[in-house]
Amino acid sequence: MTHYNPDGDAIGSSLGLYHFLVAWGHQVDVVVPNSYPGFLQWMPGNDRVLVASEQHQEVVERIHQAELIIFLDFNVMDRVQQLEETFRQVGVPKILIDHHPNPEPFADIMVSSTQVSSTSELLYELLVGLKGEDAIDRNMAECLYAGIMTDTGSFSYNSSLPDTYYVVSRLIEKGIDKDRIYWRVYDNYSVDRMRLLGYCLNTKLRVFPEYGAAYISINRRELKEFNYRSGDSEGFVNYPLSIGGVMFSAIFIEQEGYVKISFRSKGDFYANRFASAHFNGGGHKNAAGGYSELSLEETLEKFESLLPQYKGQLLENHLYHAD
Ligand code: 5GP
Ligand code: MN
Repeated sequence: MTHYNPDGDAIGSSLGLYHFLVAWGHQVDVVVPNSYPGFLQWMPGNDRVLVASEQHQEVVERIHQAELIIFLDFNVMDRVQQLEETFRQVGVPKILIDHHPNPEPFADIMVSSTQVSSTSELLYELLVGLKGEDAIDRNMAECLYAGIMTDTGSFSYNSSLPDTYYVVSRLIEKGIDKDRIYWRVYDNYSVDRMRLLGYCLNTKLRVFPEYGAAYISINRRELKEFNYRSGDSEGFVNYPLSIGGVMFSAIFIEQEGYVKISFRSKGDFYANRFASAHFNGGGHKNAAGGYSELSLEETLEKFESLLPQYKGQLLENHLYHAD
């Protein structure tokens, strides 16, 4: 089981574990709360994934039949959304494998570390610790590599420790084609997605050089106009950070009844603290998210009105990291 709006690490770690457990004779279901973008739908075992928002009853039945439940890549129970109550009801042992800070104690066994790039990297260490290096096959390696690659933005952040590269070298030894994996994830977008990105950068980007911040917002009408499909805006939030002096970036996407928000930062600005203090969210220091139940306009006003009080942190951080 992994989190709502599954990303590459969520799917990669879940399917990596799936192959491992199946190889050891277990009967395994992989469950996600909702569906995920096409550029993540190629991993071996993808056709075995059950999507709770589409097959709710079947998923609930499987959860009630399970003898063991393993949660991957999230630290707070509400990230499973509509299945939270079901999981709270079932009394079987639960394991968490995750790399987010401050996990809530919702599992019996918590394998949690922030000293890794990704859940996939942590899972690799765990599986090798359990059964040795030979227990990792090419299918597992493809999934785990995809998880590490996506959670580090192709090794541009969350990837400053040597262990990550040790694990990657081991995965490459399993015969994976790393260029092909890159191509399937990053060079596999729809035309609509490219045009939406162009539109956002041209028209919807707001930059606040005086605060070292920038954001993009997309409303429902624009989503419709560009035939938006889940995952199309993945990665947009990183673009404003490419502007010199911008240390903190956000994207606001209007949904029905709420606004979904992603935050990214460079250096020592704690995006997760900002997300939890103001937007019902959390996450990592440099990559966090949350939501707002205000209208899109009010949410943007709120965000802008918060910037002055963070000016010190953002600009201090900027000066520190500029040299
Ligand atoms: P993304 O911007 O890619 O959706 O999320 C980046 C990170 O922020 C995720 O890995 C997750 O840790 C965190 N995150 C995103 N949305 C939420 C949210 O609504 N609540 C919490 N607690 N964390 C979130
Ligand atoms: Mn992750």
